[in-house]
Amino acid sequence: MSLSCQKFYQLLYNWYEINHRVLPWRETSDPYFIWLSEIILQQTRVAQGLEYYHRFVTTYPTVESLAAADEDEVLRLWQGLGYYSRARNLHKAAKMIVNQPFMADSTAHFPATFDELRALPGVGDYTAGAIASFAYDLPYPALDGNVYRVLARLYDCDEAFDTSAGKKYFHKLAEELLDREHPRLFNSAIMEFGALHCLPQSPDCANCPIQQFCKGYAAGTAELLPVRKPRPTLRDRWFSYTIYIYKREAINSEAHQHVVTNSEAYTLIHQRKEKDIWQHLYERGRVAGISRIKKQNAKCKMQNSLADYAYIESSAAACAVLCRAG
Ligand code: SF4
Repeated sequence: MSLSCQKFYQLLYNWYEINHRVLPWRETSDPYFIWLSEIILQQTRVAQGLEYYHRFVTTYPTVESLAAADEDEVLRLWQGLGYYSRARNLHKAAKMIVNQPFMADSTAHFPATFDELRALPGVGDYTAGAIASFAYDLPYPALDGNVYRVLARLYDCDEAFDTSAGKKYFHKLAEELLDREHPRLFNSAIMEFGALHCLPQSPDCANCPIQQFCKGYAAGTAELLPVRKPRPTLRDRWFSYTIYIYKREAINSEAHQHVVTNSEAYTLIHQRKEKDIWQHLYERGRVAGISRIKKQNAKCKMQNSLADYAYIESSAAACAVLCRAG
């Protein structure tokens, strides 16, 4: 049976009508409020996001007021939510919206098409689809983690959804299933259904209103879906370091004169530039070719040449600790 049928929609909408949570961003079609909620809810649980949503709509009731705010103020309001680039992008996008009207007639104060929304900083395909459908009832799918799961199960699809090929494939499925006459209702219902009923573990298949359409349920594979790409295998890695402590007199050469201060002791650090963990962070003298030094007095050669290292002050206390560690 084709999934894109009126009966499927009707059963899903009946479930939504009875079970959906009352959330303020669902009670509005104002694109500004919907955009705020979508940015806040990225990587954030609804319960935590609610508090921040209220803070933002109370402090900045319009996109103009958000654009006029000081960035530090916006960041302060965001405090505790993490991923601060979201707050910076929110502020940057608000300024863009206010300073460059998106519509040709210049009367619109908010982007109103998928492409205009997608062009805002911090807005990807999911967020653009969500705002386009929730605010303007435009026929775009909005694929969040819950929707990927429901689709994978409905279609019994074992394509990994977190690869670029998988994303394209799921996007096609979502477009096929989308109710083009009621995209706002459809996206709200399927997202909520994934969040509350078709759960990652133990989905309530026995009481599922759309069970008759679910190929994953019929095949007995529902709980194994969706599939992710294989994670890289974790391995233990050992780094060995030599810690050199130099007395001031030892580095008192012209080339390093600029680092010499009142401190009695100096040590060497080096910035990790290779494509690897801790990129751009600093480390001490890493030993080349030895994965794990067992003998305390093993002879070792530093991985990088001395010219790659810089001297920094090493306080007497730090020296003591470092000497012991070495
Ligand atoms: S039958 Fe189970 S797996 Fe299929 S949609 Fe319903 S709850 Fe999800």
